[in-house]
Amino acid sequence: MDHRRRIEAVVTALPDHDLDAFLVTDLTNVRYLTGFSGTNGQVLVTSSGAFLLTDPRYRERARSLVRDAEIVVYPRRLSEELATRVAAWGTRNVGYEAATMTVAQRDSLAGALEGVNLIGTEGLIENMRRVKDDDELRAIRDACRIVDEAFAWATGVLAPGITERDLALELEVNLRRAGAEGIAFPPIVGSGPLSAHIHHSPSARELDKGDVVLLDFGARSDGYCSDITRTVVLGPASDDQKERYELVLGAQLAAIRAVAPGIPGRDVDAAARERIVRAGHGDHFGHGLGHGVGLDVHEAPSLKDISTDTLAPGEVVTVEPGVYVPGSDGIRIEDCVVVTATGCEVLTSAPKDTLLEL
Ligand code: ZN
Ligand code: ZN
Repeated sequence: MDHRRRIEAVVTALPDHDLDAFLVTDLTNVRYLTGFSGTNGQVLVTSSGAFLLTDPRYRERARSLVRDAEIVVYPRRLSEELATRVAAWGTRNVGYEAATMTVAQRDSLAGALEGVNLIGTEGLIENMRRVKDDDELRAIRDACRIVDEAFAWATGVLAPGITERDLALELEVNLRRAGAEGIAFPPIVGSGPLSAHIHHSPSARELDKGDVVLLDFGARSDGYCSDITRTVVLGPASDDQKERYELVLGAQLAAIRAVAPGIPGRDVDAAARERIVRAGHGDHFGHGLGHGVGLDVHEAPSLKDISTDTLAPGEVVTVEPGVYVPGSDGIRIEDCVVVTATGCEVLTSAPKDTLLEL
């Protein structure tokens, strides 16, 4: 990963935000800028370069992972370490990440950094993260390959009698066996009426004949996530199930066709939503169409009706319309796509052309 380029981009951006230094505390942003993956680390970016700050537990990990920032191991408090440095440099305006720093952390910094203006910023690094470079795309493609393989495994074992929880557990094991360094989020397995719960937690319910089964899961490779949803039926499917599946698939394909550089995220949402509303299921599609995917499984840009984002080449987003009928069942189809110069390329390739009857 090209951490040097990323740090340089932040250094270049400092004057635009009237900052002498920028303190990055969000762990995902810390990893993005330096490669550091411990649970306690901060990055201080100054006009002359970056410092990775951590505690003694992570001294060795920092040394092995971080190449383009100077490593500072502080024995006690971050605020004390920062106070010493900032006073020595005469730094006046220090930016911080307002979306993720807690009020208590901000108060502690304000108490330690006398004579310094703490300036809240939002989305500075998150916006840089939107467009993926070749190394990032390679990791995301690998994470997508892993979920495709895991879905193929799942179609071989899905049968009446298995509980949602057991299937979710086996799915996790299979993602790791297929090469994932971890899961992107706890898998969702929703069966029968529970498939209509948009973000269901797998339960002790046993799968039954005729059930719709909704599987939503993701893998991590080199820190980067994938995210896929497939809906199958422990067949044969009812006419209602087939009809709703066709509706959701048509909406998803229409939205994928709408993805292109310069297109507002809300227009992509509309391309899918219009079809679902026209079919009388507008009230049954209660979430946004999709989200960016990268080091976080949910990140910018957003494909919602209230989104103000516009798509650009290199951005990776999900396209995931759904129709959830309470008391009946829910169908969602989700793929990861990367925006190209002229449209998009679909990165996940598990079969979806018809409702799989298992
Ligand atoms: Zn998902
Ligand atoms: Zn998703």
